[in-house]
Amino acid sequence: MMKKILFAALVLALPFSLRAEAVKSLADFQAAAAKANEVLVIPEWPKTPSAVQAEVDNAIKRANSALDTIGKQDLGKVTFQSTVEALDNIQNDAQTAISKTVVVQQTNKDAAMRDAAEKAIKVFQDWAVGVDYREDVYKAVKAYADTKPKLEGEDALLLEHTMRDYRRAGLTLPPEQRVEVEKLRKELAQLETDFQANIVAAKAPVVFTKAELEGVPDSLLESPGVKTGDNSYTVLANVTFQYQAVMQAAKREETRKHLHEVRYNLARDKNVAILNNILAHRNQIALKLGYKSWDDFQTEIKMAKSGAAAKTFIHDLIAGIQPKFAAEVAELRKIKAEETKDPNAQISIWDWRYYQNQLKKEKYTIDPEALRDYFPFQRVLEGMFNIYQSIFGLKFTKIIPPYKWVDDLQLFIVTDAASGQPLGMFYLDMFPREGKFNHFAEFGIIPGKKLPDGKYQRPTVALLCNFPPPQKDKPSLLSHTDVETLFHEFGHALHAIVTKAKYVRFSGTNVPADFVEAPSQMLQNWVWNKKVLDTFAADYRDPAKKIPAETIAKLKEAKLATVGVFYRRQFTFADIDLTLHDVHPEGQPYDCVAASNPLFPKDFLPINPDTAFVAYFGHLVGYDAGYYGYAWADAIAADMATAFENSPDGFLDKVVGMRLRNEIYAPGGSREIDESIRKFLGRERSIQPFLKTLGIETPAKTNGTRPSKESDAGAAKPPTKP
Ligand SMILES: [Zn+2]
Repeated sequence: MMKKILFAALVLALPFSLRAEAVKSLADFQAAAAKANEVLVIPEWPKTPSAVQAEVDNAIKRANSALDTIGKQDLGKVTFQSTVEALDNIQNDAQTAISKTVVVQQTNKDAAMRDAAEKAIKVFQDWAVGVDYREDVYKAVKAYADTKPKLEGEDALLLEHTMRDYRRAGLTLPPEQRVEVEKLRKELAQLETDFQANIVAAKAPVVFTKAELEGVPDSLLESPGVKTGDNSYTVLANVTFQYQAVMQAAKREETRKHLHEVRYNLARDKNVAILNNILAHRNQIALKLGYKSWDDFQTEIKMAKSGAAAKTFIHDLIAGIQPKFAAEVAELRKIKAEETKDPNAQISIWDWRYYQNQLKKEKYTIDPEALRDYFPFQRVLEGMFNIYQSIFGLKFTKIIPPYKWVDDLQLFIVTDAASGQPLGMFYLDMFPREGKFNHFAEFGIIPGKKLPDGKYQRPTVALLCNFPPPQKDKPSLLSHTDVETLFHEFGHALHAIVTKAKYVRFSGTNVPADFVEAPSQMLQNWVWNKKVLDTFAADYRDPAKKIPAETIAKLKEAKLATVGVFYRRQFTFADIDLTLHDVHPEGQPYDCVAASNPLFPKDFLPINPDTAFVAYFGHLVGYDAGYYGYAWADAIAADMATAFENSPDGFLDKVVGMRLRNEIYAPGGSREIDESIRKFLGRERSIQPFLKTLGIETPAKTNGTRPSKESDAGAAKPPTKP
């Protein structure tokens, strides 16, 4: 008490803004956490390269010794605590160590620290691969499973998932078959590494004359490396921004067609054979493990649960979006017919970017740069905080971080607004610098978990972003896309922080991969809504000036004008991915090009059949039989958004916000996601709202679930980004 009074006296002398920050200290929050039987720890950050290495080495040592304890126990006395829960405790400790190391690697200003972290991560990864194959540990867990324990809810799920992992790794197979699966997996890993390396290494300079590049902006033509002679310009087909700039702007079809063909043949010489071999390996592994196909193996642990369900979903979307896709292509064709004076002109795969660009220039004149004036960073951040605090019943308090890896690092404590109970912490590292992670993402640091002593460990996360830094004469001004990204990434942070799951395995964003993006995709809708934007977006020079309603309407219109082509292309990639990983007779050779090329004219647009897109399709490693997940999450996001749209306060509705927090975020992966969605929506999920966001009003077939009542959300809203 005394300490508090002294502290308050001190605060009075401080300027107001600082006073607000200093009223509560970390110790106050930790005391509140302790009262609620919780632990709120500030991560201890390694500060030297050797400390980075030691952090991971020690974590591995602790884990190995804990694994030994599991493996050495008397198989007649195994319990839940001594087996599956012990494994989750190991994961908690190891994950915290490696997550911190990843953050060091992505943020530290010292290159030696980043290098040490990178090395430590490699050591950790090599070690982690072997954990699944520890026979002694598996025997102990199996002995416990064999007692057929009567478990419920999250405990039952933890045992089920742990045993499922062992089965998927091949541990339930007879020894000689297991050895074969391990051998195939190792070979597969090497093939996948080679496939990716060939994609990275593929380079294809294409030389054009100025006339051939008619229409292409000078900003590209004059950029370093492009102008390579008096009348010669070298475009790299493998450099995506150069490729896209030409495809969008080159007036001559021959130029676009040629560049496209070069790009769709990148890595072909090596990767076609490698991909065929990869597919054969995956198929063999799946069959040996008792699955019909690799897509069944991959989707088993996702919401889709089977390759067939994923395929039906994608095929339903391809059919569902057909009217919108056909209308857009017809409009592009009309522009092409006029421009080329060929009444029979057709839109091929090398045309859509160019004619979409023409369409946007003619019909949707919006200068996205001018919108930045409405989005000064600090206002946007505070505006987003206000909205999320209000709808999710939370309070964010800024505290001074005991350690900062960069001067402008911020640390916030999240508490439940009603009870004052601390829920977790987040760091904000928002501006670019040399050596820092160069995208936008949320990184977990400490996971949510009920510790063995019964206390709940509250999570800590970090948001690493790269917003434009403030300038001499103006603040950091965000683009509309930046604002959308911030709302999206911060959604992941909240998903992690408000968790109530008991085990690391299910806490926070540890949910199936085809669901994890859905809640954040949904939150992107907020920044397309005038009522929401008006709560914070205002001209930084004159805060009375809000974004005009017509501008928002035009933005939406422009986006809606091209979603048919955008999504049909996405669905085509998903279809290719699932087709390659479908049922395939063992031993029969693969022909990945012959299997995939015909899907372009069928699902999307005509291509030159003598190309090999799949050789350069990097998602086939890592997202194999998983590309459909982008659309899957988008569909769920649009479906979940209807709950807000149909509520009295729309996207600012507190009742629906609390339902999202309690039914989606808090349980995480601790129960079936379909159950969480059902509880949130009050009905089965449906793809109709998604199709509606794409401007399609006629009911199409659904993905096998009961169609929803059409929402009365009004005008179609823009889609979320992939
Ligand atoms: Zn995301």
